[in-house]
Amino acid sequence: MPMDDVVIVGGGPAGALAAVILARAGARVRVFERARFPRHKLCGDTLNPGALAVLARHLDAAPLVACGDAIDGMILTGPGGVRVRGRYGRGLAGRAVTREVFDDWLLSQAVRAGAQVEEGVRVRGATTMVERGVERVAGVSVQGAQMPVSHPSRMVIAADGRRSCLAFGRGHARQPARPRRWAIGAYFTGVHGGTTAGEMHVREGHYIGVAPLPGGLTNACLVVPHAPGDEALKAPSGLLDRYLRADPELAGRFAEARPEGPAVMLGPMAVDSTSAGEAGLLLAGDAAGFIDPMTGDGLRLALTGAELAAETTIEVLAGRLAPERAHVVLAERRRAAFQSKWRFNRTLRFLVASPRGVGAAAVAARALPSMFERVIRYAGDC
Ligand SMILES: Cc1cc2nc3c(=O)[nH]c(=O)nc-3n(C[C@H](O)[C@H](O)[C@H](O)COP(=O)(O)OP(=O)(O)OC[C@H]3O[C@@H](n4cnc5c(N)ncnc54)[C@H](O)[C@@H]3O)c2cc1C
Repeated sequence: MPMDDVVIVGGGPAGALAAVILARAGARVRVFERARFPRHKLCGDTLNPGALAVLARHLDAAPLVACGDAIDGMILTGPGGVRVRGRYGRGLAGRAVTREVFDDWLLSQAVRAGAQVEEGVRVRGATTMVERGVERVAGVSVQGAQMPVSHPSRMVIAADGRRSCLAFGRGHARQPARPRRWAIGAYFTGVHGGTTAGEMHVREGHYIGVAPLPGGLTNACLVVPHAPGDEALKAPSGLLDRYLRADPELAGRFAEARPEGPAVMLGPMAVDSTSAGEAGLLLAGDAAGFIDPMTGDGLRLALTGAELAAETTIEVLAGRLAPERAHVVLAERRRAAFQSKWRFNRTLRFLVASPRGVGAAAVAARALPSMFERVIRYAGDC
């Protein structure tokens, strides 16, 4: 069997889109995905307009769009009764679609494009070799029936999410001491008062995202700081229920809500990345860094990161870029593409993390709602 040009670790949105682009460019691509799709993934389940635009550059997204409901903007609420409804405008809309449906559809596009997708296969780490005196990643080792099996490849893309075994294992990512926020999410039926907007309810010390989904489902995600020894996280469904029922905006709307399955929890969420990879290895999606999902643009950033990693890999395979320089070039491209959005997201998170910040933002929102509408359009990558 000829050696693969590219092994992609993770068949989530970043890995699947990178596989589509690379396979279409003629590369021999293999995706290792530890889960079997369709699978659930904790998420707010909204694709913002920017994420849909990235998909449309590569795929006919009409079948996906048909599976979701249009999201035409965001509702932002804060302490003291602050409420701003911002529309994306100019006919732009995002989509509310479960990750079970979205991720399955996107991975099936990778198969259609010609990528070999192996589900139910967990990657354990990278394999390396020394070339011209320099160590480089030369493939991956996967969990076999009895022992790890090596899969050599010319390039490896790590798209295995925020706890990436490759990014952590090779020292490109670490868990920062702060912030330590956890996400708890569940689906509900019987929720009243939904609209065609995604919702972000920012409170002192926590926030709750709410999104209407097809079939009368509602997604609710709580993001809350966690202190060591905090007992509450041991019963996530109860914790989510308590926050929803205590919230002035949401209590009435969730009064008759029924959970569809147990709540799912993950955290601490923040991951700091120190590079975009190393010789032979490029990082994409959350594997290249993640803080928290407040701005609802994680999927757009993951998909754009996949485009950048795939384009950089194509240049390496074509001999236009030295493999040992590829991660440096990718880091520059990521900075150019994301720097202003990263700054914007950091500022919002900083505001939300402090009671004074939330209070000041609430005053500003009351005085200048148009400014918040602009914020909503920018967060939506319009
Ligand atoms: C609570 C919450 C709400 C969010 N809400 C939104 C939202 O509404 N809109 C939005 O745009 N973004 C949202 N995000 C962000 C979004 O979920 C992520 O940015 C997105 O999932 C990143 O995609 P990815 O492909 O990089 O990683 P993932 O989606 O995490 O995919 C990684 C894949 O790799 C596989 N994998 C992991 N380890 C291995 C291994 N060792 N071997 C093989 N396979 C492996 C996993 O099974 C998984 O399928 C939210 C995030 C959270 C935590």
